[in-house]
Amino acid sequence: MDFALSDEQRMVQQMVREFAQKEIAPLIKESDRSGQMNPIVLPRLAELGILGICLPVRYGGQGMDYISLGLVCEELEAVDSTLRVVMSVHMGLNSLGLFQWASEEQKQRFLKPQARGEKIACFGLTESGAGSDVANIQSTARRAGNEYILNGEKMWISLATKAQHCLWIGKTDPKASDAHEGLSAFLVELERPGVKTGDLHGKLGMRAGSTGWIAMQDVRVPEGNRIGEEGEGFKIAMACLDNGRYTVAAGATGLIRACLEASTRYAQERQAFGRQIGRFQLVQQKIATMVQSYEAARLLYLRAGWMKNQGLRNTRETSLAKWFSTEASFQAASEAIQVHGAYGYSDEYEVERYLRNSKGAVIYEGTSEIHQLMQAGYALGYRKDTALRCELPAYDAAVWQCA
Ligand SMILES: Cc1cc2nc3c(=O)[nH]c(=O)nc-3n(C[C@H](O)[C@H](O)[C@H](O)COP(=O)(O)OP(=O)(O)OC[C@H]3O[C@@H](n4cnc5c(N)ncnc54)[C@H](O)[C@@H]3O)c2cc1C
Repeated sequence: MDFALSDEQRMVQQMVREFAQKEIAPLIKESDRSGQMNPIVLPRLAELGILGICLPVRYGGQGMDYISLGLVCEELEAVDSTLRVVMSVHMGLNSLGLFQWASEEQKQRFLKPQARGEKIACFGLTESGAGSDVANIQSTARRAGNEYILNGEKMWISLATKAQHCLWIGKTDPKASDAHEGLSAFLVELERPGVKTGDLHGKLGMRAGSTGWIAMQDVRVPEGNRIGEEGEGFKIAMACLDNGRYTVAAGATGLIRACLEASTRYAQERQAFGRQIGRFQLVQQKIATMVQSYEAARLLYLRAGWMKNQGLRNTRETSLAKWFSTEASFQAASEAIQVHGAYGYSDEYEVERYLRNSKGAVIYEGTSEIHQLMQAGYALGYRKDTALRCELPAYDAAVWQCA
């Protein structure tokens, strides 16, 4: 594995860093306070090509690799977690899911406008009674001739009220002996009759982002909107999570970096007992731990990105990266507040926002407990990955950059 960045990867990193720092950083405090996503965010991400960064040019993307996606997420979350969430759902959970599982016709119809940012995409898996326990999904998709009729309510859906497309998972076979095998995936255009969406309020963090619900009442979708085979919904959802979790891991790495930068800056400014607080060993210990977490988190996501580039199955490595980096970012944010003392406890400094935002990431896309079960399962030999009917395509610059 060679993790030296290519010129193209460095260009992407620089472009996103400048965008986030110049255009988003000045707005983020106000968006967080008002609980509103700034309307410039999605159009600017589209304009910059970020919403299709690691998709082939022939599908409307930029033809960059999966490591570039990780770099984008690290840079976005170093400034604003909610921008990285956009990448996690639009690109990680939805677009890469279509790239992996959709037919060529569906890629032209759904993926292309998503990659260009003409359509915003979300991912509808969770319900009020089904989060970690995906097989307990109650939403149904009943076949009626060449159509399906969708019913049910999805909760905690990022971009629910901003998206036009939802990759939606529902039950097609309520009698399946293994409930996992009774699920199927659909790409649902959210303007269809019978769809209602709304925002959730009162969130601890991610306030500058959009999290909501999507209700379907007798929503008719053609068979051509089903992604993959009937009964493949669970496998598709898990494969989508392999990509979403990668973006969360890379983003959390950026958040650790932001905590480190804020803490070192403050430790060199703030005086106590006649010295910079950075001179105290107990403050240094917190900063050293942030350095350690950042470097380890970065290597873990780069390894997962490298494996994706090679076309290697990476469920285990991506889960480890996500678990480690999100827990480490929560710790880093908490310690960054400690370094800032009382000032860290107010939104005058950004570290309190980092703490509120970092808590979400140890819950969504597999709670830390679920990742621990996965890691123990692999180590003990109870869990093994089997080949999928459709694997995420390996990166191939010559093909991906061809129009
Ligand atoms: C900000 C935010 C954005 C989100 N965006 C999306 C989205 O875009 N799309 C989407 O589909 N979902 C989304 N979610 C939902 C998220 O994926 C779920 O919240 C998550 O999967 C956990 O499910 P749950 O909340 O139902 O918790 P539960 O599954 O009910 O878990 C509750 C607690 O029990 C523990 N637990 C559960 N099962 C086990 C077990 N077997 N062993 C040990 N402990 C266990 C959990 O770890 C947790 O601590 C989002 C959530 C948040 C907070």
